[in-house]
Amino acid sequence: MAIHPDVLIVGAGSAGCVLAARLSEDGARRVALIEAGGPDDSLFIRMPAGLAAIARIKGINWRYRTEPEAELNGRRLYWPRGRVLGGSSSINAMIYMRGQPADYDGWAASGARGWAFSDVLPYFLRAEDQARGPSALHGVGGPLAVSDLRDRCPLAATFIAAATAAGLAENPDFNGATQEGCGWYQVTQRDGERASASRAYLAPALTRPNLTVTTRAQVLRVLFEGERAVGVELVRDGRREEIRAGEVILAGGAINSPQLLLLSGVGPAAELEALGIKVRHALPGVGKNLQDHLDYCTLYQATVRTYDFSVLEALGVLARYLLTRRGPGTSNFAEAGAFARSPGADRPDLQLHFVPAQLDDHGRNRLPGHGFTIHACVLRPRSRGEIKLKSVDPLAPPAIHARYLSEAVDLELLLEGIALSRRIARAEPFAGIRRGELYPGEGVSDRAGLIAAVRAKAETIYHPVGTCRMGTDPLAVVDPALRVRGLDGLRVVDASVMPTLVSGNTNAPTIMIAEKVAAAMRGA
Ligand SMILES: Cc1cc2nc3c(=O)[nH]c(=O)nc-3n(C[C@H](O)[C@H](O)[C@H](O)COP(=O)(O)OP(=O)(O)OC[C@H]3O[C@@H](n4cnc5c(N)ncnc54)[C@H](O)[C@@H]3O)c2cc1C
Repeated sequence: MAIHPDVLIVGAGSAGCVLAARLSEDGARRVALIEAGGPDDSLFIRMPAGLAAIARIKGINWRYRTEPEAELNGRRLYWPRGRVLGGSSSINAMIYMRGQPADYDGWAASGARGWAFSDVLPYFLRAEDQARGPSALHGVGGPLAVSDLRDRCPLAATFIAAATAAGLAENPDFNGATQEGCGWYQVTQRDGERASASRAYLAPALTRPNLTVTTRAQVLRVLFEGERAVGVELVRDGRREEIRAGEVILAGGAINSPQLLLLSGVGPAAELEALGIKVRHALPGVGKNLQDHLDYCTLYQATVRTYDFSVLEALGVLARYLLTRRGPGTSNFAEAGAFARSPGADRPDLQLHFVPAQLDDHGRNRLPGHGFTIHACVLRPRSRGEIKLKSVDPLAPPAIHARYLSEAVDLELLLEGIALSRRIARAEPFAGIRRGELYPGEGVSDRAGLIAAVRAKAETIYHPVGTCRMGTDPLAVVDPALRVRGLDGLRVVDASVMPTLVSGNTNAPTIMIAEKVAAAMRGA
């Protein structure tokens, strides 16, 4: 481990890998990256369809669960998060999505000065290596490979045809001039392999003498002298140690970064005192403003063979993948999708992910036979939750209160999303393919039945953000340079700083955030 690094980064996830790579480009800066999980050398991480097996690989997933959700029948929802080099980008579905320009303009208007779309676009372009070539909205030569799927499932093409029949326009590029419409997702893959933040950014930087990466070391808290962060305490091989550093950057993600601040005495004073934690710095917004995409899976049985997860583990698929980097092994499952407006909306407020497989309970409940799934989620939910400490034990998971559907409008929109999913599934292109509707179920058509279905089955689609929100008001946790407000030598740089959830998947925006801050720190 580097002796007294200039910068110590906590967490080698989407943001942490970008920071480590970009900051260590300056050979005079000693950078240390600390990751709780281990290396990302598993074939099931590298092979995109390994996604289906990742849930069963021990030790690479924090496997969080929310507290009982009041609007979801008191269910405790499963929240996977990567605990491995690459973080959640090593276990995600690889969809490359930026969101809508208005999202970032909204950030800037809320106090995140310098984060309007015109400000952030250069950092999306800097990150990107777009296989289709450069354009005004796409970059080439960046570390993050963005490509079309090498092989496409014919049933996903049927979805696009059906969505078109249901009235959506076909969109060849969701990150182009407009997001609205239906089409193929682009993926963060290079030559048929997952391009996690670790593979894209960290791996090429590993030989640098000024970069040290330590795995299987969990940071327990930030150390301070007065108002200044001077290092961290961590546990490795069962032993506690302290590392001092010139600056500490928390990049632990939307659950762990606020948890670390709270454990370090930075947060809502009364909550900390109630747990007996000495208040280092009162910051009432820490852990608040939690937002996530709640998702409902409309699920049909099919007359044709679709992906069935055990098939993907079959030797034939594996052998073909290993020999050619082609075939179902390259699938991210969510191959196609759509962005649509609910009645009266001025921009898309619903996202669909089409999966040519029966996806129940995150793929953990394997249903017999074949089928397909249309996920619907509300892009900009109004409901807000929070992360709190349950105990002072830094190794214990924090309490996640997602508070899904606590704002009634989110439920109404989700119902619109299910109605749209059904219109698409019942459109002509699926005739002869579609068999029975498993969820919500053929007989469920009245409002009460649909609401009951949502409460019983809705799940996360894995995009928690906002718990260390940037801004300038009293509840903001970090300023627009992502420095923790009121303290020195401490930043938070990851998905937790987003003031509001972007209209789409969150990996590319998180990478953009880290690119932008690293450039500012380097004066580049
Ligand atoms: C199953 C799944 C599917 C997804 N699919 C997509 C998709 O298709 N497209 C998309 O755009 N987004 C997707 N996402 C979301 C996206 O991957 C995340 O938003 C993004 O990776 C978040 O980046 P981050 O840097 O904030 O956190 P993470 O990438 O989660 O990184 C945090 C890192 O910090 C480490 N860490 C945490 N606490 C400590 C500690 N105390 N000490 C040391 N290390 C610590 C963690 O182990 C982890 O490696 C998905 C997420 C999941 C879980």
